[in-house]
Amino acid sequence: MSGADNVVWLGTPAFPEAARTALADRRLRANLRRATGTIRDKRLAATAELDDWEELRETAAALKRRTLRHLDQHLLRLEETVTAAGGTVHWASNAAEANAIVTRLVQATGESEVVKVKSMATQEIGLNEALAEAGVRAYETDLAELIVQLGGDRPSHILVPAIHRSRSEIREIFQRQMGKWGRPAPEGLTDDPRDLAEAARLHLREKFLRAKVAVSGANFAVADTGTVMVVESEGNGRMCLTLPQTLITVMGIEKVLPSFADLDVFLQLLPRSSTGERMNPYTSLWTGVTDGDGPQDFHLVLLDNGRTATLTDEVGRQALSCILCSACLNVCPVYERTGGHAYGSVYPGPIGAVLTPQLVGVENAASLPFASTLCGACYDACPVKIDIPEVLVHLRAKAVEAKRRDRLLPTSEALAMKAAGAVLSSPRLLAALERLAASGARLVARDGRIGVLPGPFARWSGTRDTPAPAREPLRAWWRRTRGEGRTTTEGTGR
Ligand code: SF4
Repeated sequence: MSGADNVVWLGTPAFPEAARTALADRRLRANLRRATGTIRDKRLAATAELDDWEELRETAAALKRRTLRHLDQHLLRLEETVTAAGGTVHWASNAAEANAIVTRLVQATGESEVVKVKSMATQEIGLNEALAEAGVRAYETDLAELIVQLGGDRPSHILVPAIHRSRSEIREIFQRQMGKWGRPAPEGLTDDPRDLAEAARLHLREKFLRAKVAVSGANFAVADTGTVMVVESEGNGRMCLTLPQTLITVMGIEKVLPSFADLDVFLQLLPRSSTGERMNPYTSLWTGVTDGDGPQDFHLVLLDNGRTATLTDEVGRQALSCILCSACLNVCPVYERTGGHAYGSVYPGPIGAVLTPQLVGVENAASLPFASTLCGACYDACPVKIDIPEVLVHLRAKAVEAKRRDRLLPTSEALAMKAAGAVLSSPRLLAALERLAASGARLVARDGRIGVLPGPFARWSGTRDTPAPAREPLRAWWRRTRGEGRTTTEGTGR
């Protein structure tokens, strides 16, 4: 599949350049530091309350692994049970197909607007833009998504899409934009969180009461019962899922769980990992349609969009276990400094760095697997134990391989590695180079460090402190202090 078939809005510029711009934005960094620090502390407190937290993580990881192994069977079972409960299931192999299905379903109702529950899957396929092209206006109803939509912005966090915005920026966006989308912001709006939430509530209320069609994502779907679930914090999701006549849910195929009892594990892990709460405030579950209660027309769109291809990779497939809690973002030192936009993907942070390249092809997002220090904090925090550093290293190898395939000439990195290999396999050559480096260091080093190295090494040394080589190489020191003629390997050719 090419990157163009599935949207995931892949970034230009690539991560290194985008990160450099983000790093220069002091206000962004301050907003991120404050927000991620708060969520991080809450998560630690909430997870420490459970004695069996590690067992829960193990159970969830095993459950996800097993489910992914038999994904085809669980999906067919889900189709059966949703259909039996009065819903309709649609299969979409990519973003274009999913968008066409949803657009057709909305147009069939005769409506020209829909309300939306926060949904990563619909962002992934660029649904709002596709609906707009067809003359349908989509209103985001999650508070943070509303801020992003009104600000003509992009989400920068899975759970808190407007994490990069301060309260005063939000007030300014509400004052400037709300009137263009419906009910304007109240006069004299302050940046007090309660005032901002009330302004959003009033603005959205008229949309909820008018809407005939809603579009949602799903956190989980249960194959055995056909039940679909959305968890959220504000109640906006509950309004979307119950008031309109037609409900269209777009769900990645990896969200399916075999049985209702499996929810027991994930409903303990998800709120504690995402918002640091024991329970999420609103958990909505529905099974098909119920006469006279809630939407009378329910459609479930099962989205592949690169997931089947990801499933074929034995190392990479663990990324599909993700429950999108965002814990890995909040502990990531890279994310905390660059924010989500630098990843150029709907899925930012560590999970974005392993999921996006697999969904769109590693050659289309080759810089993302390198957007990490490999410190492992994401793995420690992940409630389903996705070994993100392992997948990152695996994808780095694939990115290098893809680059090598595309180039007629070897890269400077490959040449440097080749030269290093030649030097390190010849003790005589190594000794000569050590002597040369030691005398060079005497000339250029200041305070034990070298500023910027010349030529192709300038990019590497420009962002690091390069320690000066020792004035006396190790082996010379060994000979001098131990009085031996040579080290064990010198001159042996080994
Ligand atoms: S990779 Fe793990 S920690 Fe990160 S969002 Fe997914 S489930 Fe949460």
